[in-house]
Parts: sequence; C-alpha cells; structure tokens
Amino acid sequence: MNFSVLGSGSKGNSVYIESGKTKILIDAGFSGKEIAARLRSIGRGIEDIDAIFVTHEHHDHIQGVGVLSRRYHIPVYSNLETFKAGENVWGRLSRYSEFATGDIIQMQELQVRTFTVSHDAADPVGFIIGNGKVKLAYCTDTGKVSHLLRQRLMGCNGLILEFNHDLQMLKNGPYSPVLQQRVRSDHGHLANEDAACFLQSLLHEQLQYVILAHLSTTNNHHDLAMMAARSAIGDSFLQLRVASQSLATDLMCLK
Ligand SMILES: [Zn+2]
Ligand SMILES: [Zn+2]
Repeated sequence: MNFSVLGSGSKGNSVYIESGKTKILIDAGFSGKEIAARLRSIGRGIEDIDAIFVTHEHHDHIQGVGVLSRRYHIPVYSNLETFKAGENVWGRLSRYSEFATGDIIQMQELQVRTFTVSHDAADPVGFIIGNGKVKLAYCTDTGKVSHLLRQRLMGCNGLILEFNHDLQMLKNGPYSPVLQQRVRSDHGHLANEDAACFLQSLLHEQLQYVILAHLSTTNNHHDLAMMAARSAIGDSFLQLRVASQSLATDLMCLK
C-alpha cells in the first residue's frame, strides 16, 4: 500500500492511498485544481481516483469534493449527517454512497473501516484502510482519545495522527479565550502532548510510519510537534514525518 498526505492543516486536508489498482482520497479540502496538481507532483492522476471518503463537513476537508466528483465522476462516501451538513457546499455529486459510522466498506482491493471521533461536526469519523496485509489509520480532528480510538488504531502499520497545537503556544497566542476553549475541548483538536502520549501507547514492531498531521500554523511549530513525537517513540526505528499544509509528502510505502 502506498500513500501520500497531499496537504494537512486548517487550510486544507487530503490524503491519497493506493493498493494495486485501487486508488482513493480521504477528504478533498483544497480546490479541485490544487488536488489535481498535488497528485501530479507525486506522479499520480486525479482521473484514476476511485472514491473520495469524507471524514466530516468542515470546509478544510470538503472544499474540492463537489467539483472533483462532478468533473471526474468520482463516487463520494460519507455518513448521512455529514452528507446533510456538506451538501450545500459540495452541491450535486456524480455518485454518492452512504455508510453508517462503524461500517466497513469494501472498495475493490481496499477495506475501509469507519470509526467515530470527538469533534464539533455533525457525525465526524476517522478511517482505517487495509488491504489484507497492512493497515493505515487516518485520525485527525478529534478533541480526545477514547477507548474506541485506541482499539481501532492499535496494530496499524501506518498512522496519520493529529498533532494540532502546543498548549503553551495556544495559551500565549492570539486566539480569544472562547476560541482557545473550543480548540482545547473534547470536541476540538489534539494537543502535541496528548497525541504523543497516545502514540506511545500504540507502538509496536510493525508500526512503520507515523505522520504528524493537522498542525496549527498559529499555535504549533514543526519542531515542537516533532520533539513530542520523538520522545514518545524512544529508540524505535519507525519513520516520523510532519505533513505540511503547502506540499504533498512523497509517496510512502507500507509493506
Ligand atoms: Zn480540520
Ligand atoms: Zn474539523
């Protein structure tokens, strides 16, 4: 299985995943043009995408969903609450499939497992994508780490995990007390230290890649997130990366 985080953060999110002939996107939170360009930058084409799976209706996750679906006839998958909340942004879709949170969807060679996360959206989810050999988890936009989250992410070979903010930077930064409270709440975003603690509990020998995602440009810094994650993984040999807002990561391979 290969994957690339095409971009991550409050200005847009999208992840590309392929296994054999099956190619999907999780979220499409940039313009259609931008997503097509970022796919080209890793040697892939938007016209080959088989499906877009949507985590939740926030703009940074769905901006390009409608236009890509219509232009390239891409089916869109979401739960009903996300569909109802996202519909007025994405408009008509070429094709749509509804899942219930908790469902496992077979998408050609890929199995996509959905699980609930804690965030201020209608019915937000994360995904575990498997091909029978390896599993990749996508888990951002969650304010807390639940027992369910731990259970779902355990045993994955790759993790795309939210490291949203540094608590000190948030406290001393420009956000109003109300907005700070929203970010820190159980329905907001994960702080570096919470994510690092979670990561530590998920370590195992077959964990190959950990991608730190959805970093706040205002309340976090690449080095702080990296430091928190490094201290969590100890002397493990796994690959650590920080997903950027402006550029796609290279194509990474889970085996
Ligand atoms: Zn987001
Ligand atoms: Zn969100």
